[in-house]
Amino acid sequence: MSQSKPLMLVVEDDAAVRNLITTTLETHGYDYISAATAHAAIASAATSNPDVILLDLGLPDFDGIEVIRKVRSWSQMPIIVISARNEDADKIDALDAGADDYLTKPFSVGELLARLRAALRHLSYFSDENDSDAIFVNGELTIDYAAGIATLSGCELHLTPIEFKLLCLLARNVDKVLTHQYILREVWGSTQESYLASLRVFMGTLRKKIEVDPSHPHYIQTHVGIGYRMMRIQ
Ligand code: CA
Repeated sequence: MSQSKPLMLVVEDDAAVRNLITTTLETHGYDYISAATAHAAIASAATSNPDVILLDLGLPDFDGIEVIRKVRSWSQMPIIVISARNEDADKIDALDAGADDYLTKPFSVGELLARLRAALRHLSYFSDENDSDAIFVNGELTIDYAAGIATLSGCELHLTPIEFKLLCLLARNVDKVLTHQYILREVWGSTQESYLASLRVFMGTLRKKIEVDPSHPHYIQTHVGIGYRMMRIQ
C-alpha cells in the first residue's frame, strides 16, 4: 500500500446502495471509483488497479461471480462481495471463485468498514512481509512453516500432521473465509462429504490446543454452513 488513500472499486448497479457505500468510503478517508456493470467493473479493475473491490453479485449484464473469476485470472486483489443473496450456496460460490469475504445486505456501515480494514491488513501483510513469510506471527501464535513448528505464547504446540496442515492453511489465508470444500481439497485432497465430519473433529482438537476458550474462539472463526476463517489479531 502506498502513502496515498487506499483506492476502492465499488461495483453496484443500484444507485442508492452505491451512493451509501461511496459516501461511507469518502467520509472514512478512502478514495473510490465505481462501476454499475460487470463489464465496467472488469475494465476498471484492470486499468485502475484498486486496493480492494466491493462487489455486488446481481449485476445487469452478467453475474458478479464471473467478475471474480475474470479478476482472479490476473490479480489477487482483495474482493469483498456485498450481496442481497443470503443463501449459503451463493456465498460458497463467491468464495470458491476467489472472493475474500462477503457482506449480506442490509449491512451496517461499521460492518463494512471492519471488513475493509481486514482486507487492507491482508494486503499489507502480503506486500510487507513477502521476504519473511517463512515465519507467521499472529497474536500469541507463531508458525515456522519450514521447520513444521507452531508455538503459542512461546510454548511449542503438539499438533498432529493434519492439525498442523489445517493451521497452516488458515494462517496462509489469514482474514479470509475458507469454504469447507476448499479446506477438504487442500488438506485431504478430496471433497467427499464424509471428510466433512473429520474436518469438524480436527478443527475441534486444533481449537483445544490454540484457543484459551474453545467455545469462544479467538483465532479461528466458524462460518456456519460455509467454512472457517483465521482472524488477524490486532
Ligand atoms: Ca444489484
